[in-house]
Amino acid sequence: MVMVLMSAIMRLNNQVVQQSQENSRLHSQIATLQGEIDKTTEDAMLASAEKEGNRSKAVGYIESIQSKLKSINNYLSKRGLRSISFKTVNISNKKNDTKMYSEFNAYLDKLVNNIAYMPMGYPKLSSFTSFFGYRGNPFDFGGSEFHPGLDFRGQKGDAVKCTASGRVIWASRAGGYGNCVKIKHTNGLETWYGHLSKISVREGQRVTVGDVIGKVGSTGRSTGPHLHYEIRKNGQPVNPKQYLSLNM
Ligand SMILES: [Zn+2]
Repeated sequence: MVMVLMSAIMRLNNQVVQQSQENSRLHSQIATLQGEIDKTTEDAMLASAEKEGNRSKAVGYIESIQSKLKSINNYLSKRGLRSISFKTVNISNKKNDTKMYSEFNAYLDKLVNNIAYMPMGYPKLSSFTSFFGYRGNPFDFGGSEFHPGLDFRGQKGDAVKCTASGRVIWASRAGGYGNCVKIKHTNGLETWYGHLSKISVREGQRVTVGDVIGKVGSTGRSTGPHLHYEIRKNGQPVNPKQYLSLNM
């Protein structure tokens, strides 16, 4: 009887020991798993922080690009361009990126187009001999006259380039302007090039900014070879100087 009891107790004891070993094995497994979970969570948090950091950097760049686009738009509108409606993109919004980028792209397309059709820069790289405004009349000593454009120094035969894309609306003699080319751009703007020795375009022709439209000469009311350059806004001459660089 005692023996039977003893062996039963032994068996039970063994079971308890085994149970406790199993328990501690499970505990250590749990601890390992817990550690892995913690590490994974930590990695995920670090990755997401990094992603967030990159996103906020990207947002910073996009905001800066946006403000530069606005500046360009302002410079263009200051010189008579109807400005493009600029819908400020709310970047912090949970807007999907593709849509935002496509809006930027569409805006840039308009801007590129407007820049191409906006008279800008020099029709000929040289200094001026005469400015816009009242000046002494070279043909009437002591008298004064209004000079509606800029005169660029030049040699007969120097290339004259159009300062914007557009359509040629005049390509022949025009009184005191001599051989003259007039180009119509957008926003009521025209550029006129006078005293040419040669005209290289014809009326109705489409030209692209930088195309050679003629050669410097001294035709019409002129005292020597030079280029008379004029910009007209809604028919009125404006000072071309403000169209020589984007910044003015
Ligand atoms: Zn002139």
